[in-house]
Amino acid sequence: EFVPVFQNEPFSDFSLEEVREQMEAALEDISNYMGEEYPVVINGRIQEPHEMLLSRNPSNSSQIVGRVASATPDQAEEAIDAARRAFKEWSGIEAKYRSEYLELIANEMRDRRFELAAWMVYECGKPWVEADADVAEAIDFCNYYAEQMRFLGEPRHRDVPGEENSYYYRARGVVVVISPWNFPLAILTGMTVAALVSGNTVIMKPAEQSSVIAAKLMEIFSNAGIPSGVVNYLPGNGEDIGPVLVNSPDVDMVTFTGSRPVGLEINRSASDTDQRQHSVRKIIAEMGGKNAIIVDADADLDEAVQGVVQSAFSYAGQKCSACSRVIVMEDVYDQFLERLVEAAGSLVVGAAEHPATTVGPVIDKAALDRINEYIELAYEEGDVVLATDVSELEGEGYYVGPHIIENVASESRLAQEEIFGPVLVVFKVQKLNEAFEIANNTDYALTGGMYSRSPKNLQQARLKMICGNLYLNRGITGALVDRQPFGGFRMSGIGTKAGGPDYLHQFLIPINVTENT
Ligand code: GLU
Repeated sequence: EFVPVFQNEPFSDFSLEEVREQMEAALEDISNYMGEEYPVVINGRIQEPHEMLLSRNPSNSSQIVGRVASATPDQAEEAIDAARRAFKEWSGIEAKYRSEYLELIANEMRDRRFELAAWMVYECGKPWVEADADVAEAIDFCNYYAEQMRFLGEPRHRDVPGEENSYYYRARGVVVVISPWNFPLAILTGMTVAALVSGNTVIMKPAEQSSVIAAKLMEIFSNAGIPSGVVNYLPGNGEDIGPVLVNSPDVDMVTFTGSRPVGLEINRSASDTDQRQHSVRKIIAEMGGKNAIIVDADADLDEAVQGVVQSAFSYAGQKCSACSRVIVMEDVYDQFLERLVEAAGSLVVGAAEHPATTVGPVIDKAALDRINEYIELAYEEGDVVLATDVSELEGEGYYVGPHIIENVASESRLAQEEIFGPVLVVFKVQKLNEAFEIANNTDYALTGGMYSRSPKNLQQARLKMICGNLYLNRGITGALVDRQPFGGFRMSGIGTKAGGPDYLHQFLIPINVTENT
């Protein structure tokens, strides 16, 4: 029987001086490698770049973190071809050996932990703690899926006299991985190693904003000895190479995490089949959220304030799991809001490189403009009770501080659309049922939470809140591999939970063989 031994990688403790020093040393060291070039890698070979994209530091936008090749449609075809050719041998390797590759990858990540975190600080404006957690999650995905695959690699037998039955899994084929910038290492690693350990070959198309950290991952794959062509690194513009990648008859599966419009477009276009195609493409699309936390009348307000602040504003709200709506019972509304505004207003907004920063910049200029438009809208649609001033940081990077808005209609754009920034709306309700109604009044179903001391009300939350990950009396971000398998439904996406027991099944095809003996 399968006995799991998986353990989550512990986070670094930055309250210890020696740990802080290691992170500082990594940041210092890496600052010497800014602006290097990162070419496309197909079939283990570096490709001469035609055009370069600039990856900038969101904390200080004049700093170029790397110059990354922008792959052409022809290169996309070549990468698919390389992955197709590598498939036969890779899928033929015994599952347990593929699991060992993942463990080698995890080990190298552990050895390079501060370096990898430092790259995320520079390239994606991730504050230290968040960047460190990102590396830990990447390590977890490797070790967890390695363990899962050892189990799934064993055929299941159901023999009766005169008949032998075996049930086992085979890989799907070529998988295109399209990853987001907000968990630049963890999510890219998770999707890619899940495909690999199941015996598929991969084309990694990272988000434009996090292509340097993706190049580091590619380097780790090569160091682990993953054969040429099994993983290919194809950075570039989604508009240029996306259509080739998702429509090629040689691509068997597309796995995407990112925004809803892009996810829906990929789902639509990858579902098309033409005469040349030899399988119906499998699609995973993990998209957004508009997640709510309910604060009950008897909640521990210290904890509720802390949990909401963390869930709404850490990494400047740029998580699909982030809290963007808080629904508070009338009895504690004024008290809660006052404390919330005070706590959120005292968060340190600034460059991600600084250890004291809790709210870093947002990812790029387009994100900053979009979030600022929502903030303007906030003054029309509601009452802004906290508007953090970031004028001191102006011109340095893409900064926007925490904003809190009340008196907003549940149907308003502010309360319905995913903003992906540090903007939180607060509702006042008289009855718990009203709270559930507002919480569920969204197209999405990703995370949700409730703070309450009443077991009866917590039970109501279990029954009534429609979301994939429900958190009671804690924040709603930071799902851990294995402990909180992560993912939603409705317009939050299609796919089973990442870091959970069903995830690898999506990359596998079950086969049954019967012999009449
Ligand atoms: N898994 C992350 C969390 O639980 C969120 C992932 C995302 O934002 O894409 O916070």
